[in-house]
Amino acid sequence: MATGCLSSTNTPDFPGKDSFRGAIHHTGRWPHDGVDFTGKRVGIIGTGSSAIQSIPVIAEQAAHLTVFQRTPNFSVPAHNAPTDPEHERRFKENYPALRAKAKQGRSGQLYSITDTPAFTVSAEEREREYQARWEKGGFVFLGAYTDLQTSKAANDTAADFVRRKIHETVKDPVVAELLCPDSVIGCKRICVDTGYYQTYNRPNVTLVDISKGPIEAITPTGLRARGKEYDLDAIVFATGFDAMTGALARIDIRGVGGLPLTEKWVAGPRTYLGLMTAGFPNLFTITGPGSPSVLTNMLPSIEQHVDWIADCLDHLNQRGVARIEPTVEAEDAWVAHVNEVADRTLFPTCNSWYLGANVPGKPRVFMPYPGFPAYVQKCEEIVADGYRGFILT
Ligand SMILES: Cc1cc2nc3c(=O)[nH]c(=O)nc-3n(C[C@H](O)[C@H](O)[C@H](O)COP(=O)(O)OP(=O)(O)OC[C@H]3O[C@@H](n4cnc5c(N)ncnc54)[C@H](O)[C@@H]3O)c2cc1C
Repeated sequence: MATGCLSSTNTPDFPGKDSFRGAIHHTGRWPHDGVDFTGKRVGIIGTGSSAIQSIPVIAEQAAHLTVFQRTPNFSVPAHNAPTDPEHERRFKENYPALRAKAKQGRSGQLYSITDTPAFTVSAEEREREYQARWEKGGFVFLGAYTDLQTSKAANDTAADFVRRKIHETVKDPVVAELLCPDSVIGCKRICVDTGYYQTYNRPNVTLVDISKGPIEAITPTGLRARGKEYDLDAIVFATGFDAMTGALARIDIRGVGGLPLTEKWVAGPRTYLGLMTAGFPNLFTITGPGSPSVLTNMLPSIEQHVDWIADCLDHLNQRGVARIEPTVEAEDAWVAHVNEVADRTLFPTCNSWYLGANVPGKPRVFMPYPGFPAYVQKCEEIVADGYRGFILT
């Protein structure tokens, strides 16, 4: 299964959705020929990464943009710009070395992640470091200190820095406060933007807080939230994905004895290494739940899975083995290990899609495995040990 961790869109089933007379779009299913919002009153539902990147662009076109926010997210500047040709040339000349380096890097990343815990330096030095990373842009921000995802106190220093930036940027202090997450930075996947917070200074953009009263219904002329009607010509669902398991669950996959995968995973996905699941022989999942997947730069982690599976198939072919599946014991131990590692981090402290919390009724289980590249070594050791934990028949 190469069906993707973030390919299955999540569209909340608001009452009255079919009655809306305007256009409805989902950021994950955007028309390839684009959408023209010129002169339109647009509503966007969600403030995750796709919303944060869409909002500044839609606001430039629309007559008015209303943003419906349930939970604010932390965002850092992207600083996108045309690539310097000299940088590009140097980068491309060194591709093999850089790819090899990324595979060894924490989370499969090339960017600089220090080995320094946050409180081993002074507050002034932390401020300088965060500022430098803010100016560089992107995920690199969270690489400032080694304990940002494990220590709440350390995390607070980074989160406070971004909250200050939001207040410095957004002129209306009430709006600024609404945009400030009170959670751990990086607990939900950090967002990367171009002019997101600045967009709230535009006169044609309104932020509506729906944290205490959700969207009640889509109406023929817009939507109703907290008892108030909003007239809209178009609605954008920036409501993300049924992550990691969604694409698999939408296919009627059955294992030994006809057991549906969805039934086996009713309390949350169970895998060995995120690569296979007991009772489903010969079913491989590339970046499946229980593997580093979405916590990494995914290209190295996808490649590692593809190589592992290809090598495994070679191994089976050479030995005339027709069937492989993990033992239940190996799978149970792996699931316990993934949970134990996740519990050592701050990831389980918020309602993120890593936990399935964005999809109503989805079991709350931390799905990715925080531990790349140590994970790669574990996979290799298991192979070297004769595919330990797998049954080959
Ligand atoms: C907006 C967005 C931004 C992202 N940015 C980054 C990033 O910067 N860095 C990064 O590392 N990762 C990023 N990702 C994660 C990204 O999903 C992966 O990096 C990468 O696309 C995964 O590749 P994949 O081949 O595993 O899955 P995908 O690229 O998602 O491909 C899955 C394919 O399977 C198909 N499929 C699914 N179900 C079925 C079915 N039932 N029948 C037939 N076909 C099916 C889909 O149509 C799709 O073609 C981003 C994801 C999103 C949504």
